[in-house]
Amino acid sequence: MKITNNHDLPKHIYDDIVAKENSNPYINNSFNKDTDFRVTELMDAPLPITLAKKYKDSDEYIVDASYFLPMYIGTGIHKHFEGHSFRATKPNGNAAVFEHHVSKDFVFDDKEFAIHGTADEIQFSGKDNVILIDNKTAFTGSVYKPVDNRYILQVNMYLYLGKFRDMNCRGFIRYIYKDWAAIRSFAAGYPICMINEREVDIMPVQEVRDYIENQVRDHKESPERPCTQTERNLGRKTFKIFLSSKPNKAKIATYADENGIRKEIDTYEKAAELMQGLPEKARGEAYIKESTDDLRCKMYCKVQSICPYAKEKGYQFSPYVY
Ligand code: SF4
Repeated sequence: MKITNNHDLPKHIYDDIVAKENSNPYINNSFNKDTDFRVTELMDAPLPITLAKKYKDSDEYIVDASYFLPMYIGTGIHKHFEGHSFRATKPNGNAAVFEHHVSKDFVFDDKEFAIHGTADEIQFSGKDNVILIDNKTAFTGSVYKPVDNRYILQVNMYLYLGKFRDMNCRGFIRYIYKDWAAIRSFAAGYPICMINEREVDIMPVQEVRDYIENQVRDHKESPERPCTQTERNLGRKTFKIFLSSKPNKAKIATYADENGIRKEIDTYEKAAELMQGLPEKARGEAYIKESTDDLRCKMYCKVQSICPYAKEKGYQFSPYVY
């Protein structure tokens, strides 16, 4: 992998990123990386990790150093808590453990492997109650959005892999708002606390197992399958309304909710409802299409330089183009 510095990070920071990524690339794991999975990897599409492994020593695999920094901010939060834990066994038996490794062995097509994850925080009370919390750095705007399905799955997988499902389980996503201090000075209605913990549903164990099995099958049987539209769009399925006289120019790409927050159209039904509100002439030529934004390919995917789809589309990381 070749790491560039096209966006002028200070040299010592760039050098530090290069040294870190060379000594501990993000596809490297302390467990058996040829057979085992990390939870986050398993939840992802297979193609990015397949390409990263295949091209890890190639100069065609180019990532700019600036695209590692957001990942380091998240890692910094995790590192801050690492090693902190309290185990007050008296008087109520409460305990909290931070950065707790969870894993479980599986057999697939007669081959053994394990799935590993790191739960950010686990709180025990008494001997039967467990609360698992996963930290996410986020922007305050997410306060109005439902908890992302992938986060719900992640918490449920950690509870399952940690073998906590025989206990009374609860799961939370803890949003840590990066823009909290800046935004609270002018935006009324934003969270009073920089941390917002939102409870997620506990899924039936069978559903979690089925999900894991499907993902394992997907990664093992079709490691190079092209990413789906939803995967290319950061896991979001969104819709846009087009006018046939102006194809590919979305007339209504977003709408504002009751709080005045601009939102993407996340269901076909919502798009259909918005379409009814168009002037009669426009309504006659309006049609709905699932978004083909490819936001992940354009803005975040680290294997963009070696991905056949991104190459075909001519996607290149640039702060000015998108
Ligand atoms: S660039 Fe897009 S299509 Fe290619 S691996 Fe990344 S997300 Fe998938």
